[in-house]
Amino acid sequence: MLVRVSLGSLAVLGLVDVRLDAVPKTLYVLEYSVEGCLGNCVFCTQSRASKTDKRFLSRVVWPAIDLDEVVLALGKCCNCFARVCIQTVLKQGFFREALSIASRVLETCSLQVSLATTPVGRRLLWEAWKAGVDSLGVGLDAASPRVFAKVGKPYTFDLYMRFIEWGVAVFGRGNVYVHLIAGLGESLDELLTVMEKVYSMGARVALFNYTYTPGLPLRLPGIDVLSYRVLQIARLLLEEGYDPRHYIDFSKKPPKVKEQLPIDPRRALLTSGCPGCNRPFYNEGPLGPIYNYPSEELLSKDKSWVDQLRSIGVNVG
Ligand code: SF4
Repeated sequence: MLVRVSLGSLAVLGLVDVRLDAVPKTLYVLEYSVEGCLGNCVFCTQSRASKTDKRFLSRVVWPAIDLDEVVLALGKCCNCFARVCIQTVLKQGFFREALSIASRVLETCSLQVSLATTPVGRRLLWEAWKAGVDSLGVGLDAASPRVFAKVGKPYTFDLYMRFIEWGVAVFGRGNVYVHLIAGLGESLDELLTVMEKVYSMGARVALFNYTYTPGLPLRLPGIDVLSYRVLQIARLLLEEGYDPRHYIDFSKKPPKVKEQLPIDPRRALLTSGCPGCNRPFYNEGPLGPIYNYPSEELLSKDKSWVDQLRSIGVNVG
């Protein structure tokens, strides 16, 4: 069976020889489809609406490779990764295929496995859980029903909300990671509101920033790095049980932190998602600006975030 594996993950497996600016801690696998995904999302390189080479997902190259080859290399390197993430595309039989990839991985190494998918029925979620998948990724992507319709997401916003509920019922509170993309044309309030909703449902947010890639049918507005820093801080506050509206004044442009934060703001800048998911340079080039820091080392090396945090009112040592 052919799959796609992110170039960084292949390098860790020793299957390609490329220089890595940051090492992925998760093995990222994407389902293979010649035409890509049957969905029409205007921000996604894998969608039917995109003319981008299907080797790309966001700005990362994912070469096609036989799963046998991946599993063989993984067997020699079980400690190389903290987790395996299996990402689906809409195509005939995609869920069964994802489950069989999960089984092959788990027969080889005892690793934690995430499955990122569009909505499927509850029975299939139970099957995934029984197969050993421990975390569910939900590609909601859009912050509101308005943006959801505008960017061509399949199904409805409400169906995704129900799916998140089912996911929490099956995988447990804290084990469902809802992907949200900042910069699709939403307001900051829409994004904050949906993040609050996600946490109130017992799920969590994995935050991405929109990246334009040539071949996409539209260029969406994107988000400036200062507004993104505010969202990262709001996400970490929610994660730790605090109310972001108490600490951040959202009436300002960009919003300003108005109270001493009860969290370490540095931690807010690290890639968010399942434990071990660091997605190096998934949404930005290594030359920056870096929106999601894939490691503490890079955070210590690249200090551009210090001025960014100061200019949104964060007291940085
Ligand atoms: S948060 Fe990361 S590991 Fe989890 S489903 Fe999303 S991409 Fe995969």
